[in-house]
Amino acid sequence: LGPTVCVGEILVEIVAATPGAGFLEAQPLVGPFASGAPAIFISQCGRLGGSAALVGCVGADDFGRLNLDRLARDGVDTSAIRIDPDYPTGSAFVRYRLDGERDFVFNLATSAAARFGWDDATGALLARAGHLHVMGTALAMASAWEVIDRAVPLVKARGGSVSFDPNLRKELLNDPEVLPRFSRMVAQCDLLLPSGDELLMAAGTDSGDRAVAALFDLGIGEIALKQGAAGATVYAAGAAPVSAPAFCVQELDPTGAGDCFGGAYVTCRRLGMGIAEALTYACAAGARNVTVRGPMEGAGTRAELDAFIAATERRA
Ligand code: ATP
Repeated sequence: LGPTVCVGEILVEIVAATPGAGFLEAQPLVGPFASGAPAIFISQCGRLGGSAALVGCVGADDFGRLNLDRLARDGVDTSAIRIDPDYPTGSAFVRYRLDGERDFVFNLATSAAARFGWDDATGALLARAGHLHVMGTALAMASAWEVIDRAVPLVKARGGSVSFDPNLRKELLNDPEVLPRFSRMVAQCDLLLPSGDELLMAAGTDSGDRAVAALFDLGIGEIALKQGAAGATVYAAGAAPVSAPAFCVQELDPTGAGDCFGGAYVTCRRLGMGIAEALTYACAAGARNVTVRGPMEGAGTRAELDAFIAATERRA
């Protein structure tokens, strides 16, 4: 029907090499890595051979070029990525605490990351989109939301579908626009990809079973529930739930697991796979990505994920 399109921030990530180290003194850093949740998602779609495109903005600098080159190598259509001559590409510096938690120093507000909107290239791309994937970060980003709010009815009117990964970080909830937009996306999506907390929040209940039923009543067809190292479960209206255990891996960098999971699940379903097979690839994509440092450096091709699945044990 047309490409899977995602809309939102593109940035580079630079990581403190030593877990536990802070940013208060000079220390080894690794990166820059191409990043931003929408970029990670769409990179995974492209790597799996799906038709994929991204709407966003980078600066006219090496960090922007790094992202554009990487996405193009992954087979992603970059025609609707603006290059802003006046602002630098967005960046995030990340350090890992010893308990695995992350701290970020972002440069987004004064960067190119949000400097896009509905221009000719965006309109042309969305007029032929077959699927729109919405990330929670877009709910707090006026430029992304403007494009998404206009794109959802357009994509649906031509028979396309919409998926939504709430990815609701605590900071997002300080913005009063976020919760109404969150509810609007829950009501409009065909596929929801929540974590456990987000599932309950989407349905406005504290019971998982009631939440799934309530979301089906809203018209959602499929819910792919992400359960971290416990794997994932897909609930499809009118069918028994399908669960997949996580793969046993040594986690080196947790960033991007959910985005790769989503990119793989959406792409595999759009390529015609059944739920169980798509879920296996999605779990493999999430697990493989955490074994490699860098937010999307572990996103796998079909052949890489096949090899990973064949070689990796799953949790009991
Ligand atoms: P994030 O926001 O950090 O990208 P998320 O909360 O959206 O992640 P997770 O549930 O952490 O998503 O990860 C998505 C999927 O990736 C999981 O359902 C699981 O299949 C796989 N995965 C993630 N972390 C691990 C891990 N440590 N070991 C094995 N599989 C993992």
